[in-house]
Amino acid sequence: MYYAYKYRLKPSDAHREELDRHRDICRQLYNHTLYRLNEYQDEHGELPSMTTLRSELPDLKNWWDGLSDVYSKVLQTVVERLFDNLKGLSKLKENGYGVGQLKWKPPREFRSFTYNQSGFKLDKKGGQTVLSLSKLADIPIRLHRAIPDDANLKQVTVKKEPTGEWFATFGAQMDREPPEPTENPEKCVGIDVGILKYAHDTDGTAVESLDLSDERERLEREQRKLSRKQHGSNNYEKQRRRVAECHADLRRKRRDFLHKLSNYYAREYDLVAVEDLNVKGMMESPSNSRNTASAAWRTFFSLLEYKCEREGTHFVAVNPRGTTKECASCGVSTEKPLWVREHSCPACGFEADRDANAAWNILSRGLQDVGVGYSESTPVETALPTDTDSVSVKRVVETGSPTLKERTASAVSE
Ligand SMILES: [Zn+2]
Repeated sequence: MYYAYKYRLKPSDAHREELDRHRDICRQLYNHTLYRLNEYQDEHGELPSMTTLRSELPDLKNWWDGLSDVYSKVLQTVVERLFDNLKGLSKLKENGYGVGQLKWKPPREFRSFTYNQSGFKLDKKGGQTVLSLSKLADIPIRLHRAIPDDANLKQVTVKKEPTGEWFATFGAQMDREPPEPTENPEKCVGIDVGILKYAHDTDGTAVESLDLSDERERLEREQRKLSRKQHGSNNYEKQRRRVAECHADLRRKRRDFLHKLSNYYAREYDLVAVEDLNVKGMMESPSNSRNTASAAWRTFFSLLEYKCEREGTHFVAVNPRGTTKECASCGVSTEKPLWVREHSCPACGFEADRDANAAWNILSRGLQDVGVGYSESTPVETALPTDTDSVSVKRVVETGSPTLKERTASAVSE
């Protein structure tokens, strides 16, 4: 299995200059290779292979001062990157390659370069951990979480964010296989995602939506300031950076929340059931806020799926049709407009929070899909929780789990 580990670099001013210089040589090489690609196609009527263009690198170094300053494997990955982009393009355009559509990269659009297989290592220098990059520098790095000992580091990509910060992302391979999901999952959970509550699960935990209104307000304020600055001036550039920082801050907080929430479910349970958003998306009429929310759910589910695989937890995406309308206790469907927050079944009298009822339906469909013997005593019949713990986002973000002792127990109805 492959894992990605991302860390912040702490480059000095001299390091920054070198990083930028290498980045720009890579960018120029990218543009040059694109030029060669077009030239070759004009001459030969077909595209050159990646090997052909890579084999031109040694000759290039004879007349291109500076190219030799960059580690040779890094240069090779630049050529690979162009071919990757080409592949992506050909997938879009089934009728032949549209090379003409690959664009030259201005500095703002070329932010990273990659050491593959060799030329980099983590080291200790003068009491601090550094990322040692061949032909570049030893750059201090903040390892806020450890890389597992058995992780085999295959490559590292260093990237400059629009804020000016540099990050290093390691691609690591683990030799150990992920654990097989257990055949008889004992701890199972269904999760209903929503707009009012971010997630509502069958263990009676409701996680509130992330409140980023302060961060959003700040972003808007900085954007307004930017619009008053003269385009291209020093102040404009400074302000543009501030706006980029606001964006990065929002993004970081959102990801952090989703990482922690998905970690929690993947580690805590043997089976996790959610709704299949691909089906759900087609059923619901698109509206703007709905689409934004559904993009965030997608991210959440994809993190959850990958972490479940890592932990040996079953991940099931079930058909979402009617999960809200159906009674989790007897299966009878009743219409329920969005503003009705309570489920109250006219057929069997079962009452529950609307989202809890949906979560139970998601779980029982998930158990059916996996075909595990959980049905003897349906959880719905035996263990429906009567009330719900509402958990603040702060709790998830600070502790990484919504189930720590200090749950704020409060009934969920209003
Ligand atoms: Zn019922």
